[in-house]
Amino acid sequence: MSTQSARHVAIVGGGLAGLSAGVALSEQGFQVTLFEKRPFLGGRAYSFSDPETGVEVDNGQHVFVGACSSYMQFLHKIGAWQNVRMPGRLEARVIRNGESAWLRASSWIPGSAANLPALLGYGHISLRGRLRLLYGMLRIRLARRKPGSPLEQETFEGWLRRHGQTDETLSRFWNLIVLPALNDDISDVSADAGLMLFQTALLGAPSKAAIGYPVVGLSRLSGDAAERFITENGGEVRKAADVAGFRTENGSVRGIELTSGELVEANAYVSAVPAVAMADLLPENLIEQEFFSPASEIETAPIVGVHIWYDRPVLDDRFVAVLDSPLQWVFNITRMHEREADEHDSGQHIAISLSGAWQWKDLGKAELREVFVAEMARVFPEADDAAITRFIIVKMLDATFRVVPGSEQNRLPQETPIGGLFLAGDWTRTGWPSTMESAVRSGNLAADAVTRYLST
Ligand SMILES: Cc1cc2nc3c(=O)[nH]c(=O)nc-3n(C[C@H](O)[C@H](O)[C@H](O)COP(=O)(O)OP(=O)(O)OC[C@H]3O[C@@H](n4cnc5c(N)ncnc54)[C@H](O)[C@@H]3O)c2cc1C
Repeated sequence: MSTQSARHVAIVGGGLAGLSAGVALSEQGFQVTLFEKRPFLGGRAYSFSDPETGVEVDNGQHVFVGACSSYMQFLHKIGAWQNVRMPGRLEARVIRNGESAWLRASSWIPGSAANLPALLGYGHISLRGRLRLLYGMLRIRLARRKPGSPLEQETFEGWLRRHGQTDETLSRFWNLIVLPALNDDISDVSADAGLMLFQTALLGAPSKAAIGYPVVGLSRLSGDAAERFITENGGEVRKAADVAGFRTENGSVRGIELTSGELVEANAYVSAVPAVAMADLLPENLIEQEFFSPASEIETAPIVGVHIWYDRPVLDDRFVAVLDSPLQWVFNITRMHEREADEHDSGQHIAISLSGAWQWKDLGKAELREVFVAEMARVFPEADDAAITRFIIVKMLDATFRVVPGSEQNRLPQETPIGGLFLAGDWTRTGWPSTMESAVRSGNLAADAVTRYLST
């Protein structure tokens, strides 16, 4: 463990990418110093204490599927696994016009065939439509993705339509999954990103499609636990430490300069910040280099979270999807956080997660309240009778990077032409869309690259 301790690595960014790089490097015996500009860790996956009730509120509902192997390993490593729940298979209720249907994998069919009943038994689609789903899934299994292929240039909707899908299957099945998973409408994401999603989650073992979720606030889940791991391994985590930039000399990084003026030198440096923030950390002449410039084309998409506290339970499920409604996916936080007995939650805390929220991002709290309280009452009769004890909105305007056609080429690898500088961040080249899994993969890849660099 201590063989590398003379080697010091400075990491900028305390989101999941920076934290996972820090954990991996600490594990290798490197001495890590991690700088995070905000007074708390977690980046785009954080929680805060609601000033009125003191209840932990996430900046946005985060779930993950069983295919997120690196993220799950990270949680195990930092001792946080007991704070998530991961069922063995896919199971989700979908409501449309007052009727419920289930996307439910079989518990007795072995292997990937266990997911077939989720399609064949899905009652919101006609029998003919379900056969189309099956055909679409077969074509997805046969599709060969490779870097630079035309699949990166066309939309997933276009690809699906070419493979037998109709308005019915697109809106009631494909977009039901694509919109929350890729945070964009099916008409805006690339075919490559859509194919990746279904090949990875739905065409593998049934456990890969299962939806896992945290039972505590996001900061407590991973920020605090990762900080403990790094410090217990001899590293340092400096919060409220805003980095002004990397100081470079003769094509190599020589140090990190904080906005306070402090200079920190290390043997290697990891930038684990979003693409736009990375550009601010490097001198302009470097950012304009051919290597870095594609990152300036990376676009982002918003997520709006609507939190409603009712004075009584309005929903039994942990989460439920709603079709033909602005509600998208509705989460029962009280039940997910196993908080039934909590004094603040004698009623129920509901979070409505609005992905690809272009339509909602500019509306004020009162306007959003009018729409979503009425819609909850329309879809869930119990909500009609319940009183609202608290209502808040959390807007994340740059929640995720977009996987629009042509965007894959803008993602940068973890190794850069600048001596001693490595990149992490969900937006770097990981093969995954903007997810916690991508962030952790990027952190692990950057840590591997640093290890190679410092071992030569
Ligand atoms: C509302 C919402 C819902 C989401 N839902 C899901 C989901 O259900 N499942 C899923 O897998 N993913 C989800 N995501 C995406 C996921 O949160 C991100 O992909 C992931 O957290 C990105 O991690 P990161 O470390 O790459 O970047 P970030 O989390 O953005 O971390 C970068 C960090 O760098 C810090 N920083 C920036 N500049 C500086 C500087 N100059 N000095 C020091 N520090 C700096 C920032 O403060 C930040 O903490 C969601 C995101 C949002 C916003």
